[in-house]
Amino acid sequence: MAVVKLSPCFKDYIWGGTRLRDEFGKQCHFDTIAESWELACHKDGSCTVASGEYNGLTLEQYIDTKGKQIMGTSCENDKVFPVLVKLIDAKNDLSVQVHPDDEYAMRTEGEPGKTEMWYVIDCLDGAELIYGFKEKVTPQQFAGMIRDNTLLEYVNKVRVKKGDVFFIPSGTLHAIGKGILVAEIQQNSNTTYRVYDYGRVGNDGKPRELHIDKAIDVTDTKPVTMSPMPVAVEYEGYSCTTLADCKYFTAVKYDVQSKAKLDIDHRSFAHLLMIDGEAKIDELIGKKGDSFFIDASSGSVRINGRCSFILSRKLQKGIDIFGEK
Ligand SMILES: [Zn+2]
Repeated sequence: MAVVKLSPCFKDYIWGGTRLRDEFGKQCHFDTIAESWELACHKDGSCTVASGEYNGLTLEQYIDTKGKQIMGTSCENDKVFPVLVKLIDAKNDLSVQVHPDDEYAMRTEGEPGKTEMWYVIDCLDGAELIYGFKEKVTPQQFAGMIRDNTLLEYVNKVRVKKGDVFFIPSGTLHAIGKGILVAEIQQNSNTTYRVYDYGRVGNDGKPRELHIDKAIDVTDTKPVTMSPMPVAVEYEGYSCTTLADCKYFTAVKYDVQSKAKLDIDHRSFAHLLMIDGEAKIDELIGKKGDSFFIDASSGSVRINGRCSFILSRKLQKGIDIFGEK
């Protein structure tokens, strides 16, 4: 068995707040912390091992040192690490944006596309986000809305509450709204096409770049269908809620009363993100905001303590992998 604690890297985008430091114990010298990249192996940011004999290695070095088999058999054909997990603190609105699919992203950006999922850890009363279009529009109409500055009249604004889940396939127009703190599980890609930025300027005092032509190429202009709220399945001492299960990642929220046992098989590594409470994960202490990497084929991992966490793995959709009892 192999479980290591991870230490994230941080991003100070203009819309970030201070909750990741104040409430999630993140140690970072930025004034505002927009994102902590909790599971990250990307040219734009990497997490590092923060426990045991591999302390200080980046995730990539850790995988190189121990061998690629620790990613699991489902990752055998992956040229890059497949999953990125972040905490995002939106003190202000994020830009309205869209991500390309694999084919478009590989062709134009040389990296995978981005399908993502948000789990709302917390939000202010009345907080809203943007999730697709209200009604079907044509790409020409979409271009017109961007040109005439009327896009916000046509997007689907959703009032959110704690515990809400949003699955955002590549091509879906979206924006996290102010006052929302989410865990984001996504494909390992940093390609974002911004279509509307509320007329803001970046940290350098200049308007942030928009990517209108590419956004029009990749945006799905059909109205979105809201995904049904996932249902918790009860086990003795804990419950499991599947938040997302797609070909890119599977994310399950565990709510543990006292203890639970995970079974991490050969198919995939697991990333454990503590979102509430405190527990022992194998021999390591985990508090709200902490992240752990568990090698594939680790077998059973014991969780002791009252806590909630999100377990992310890369598994094939529809295959039941959470067989632990
Ligand atoms: Zn996004």
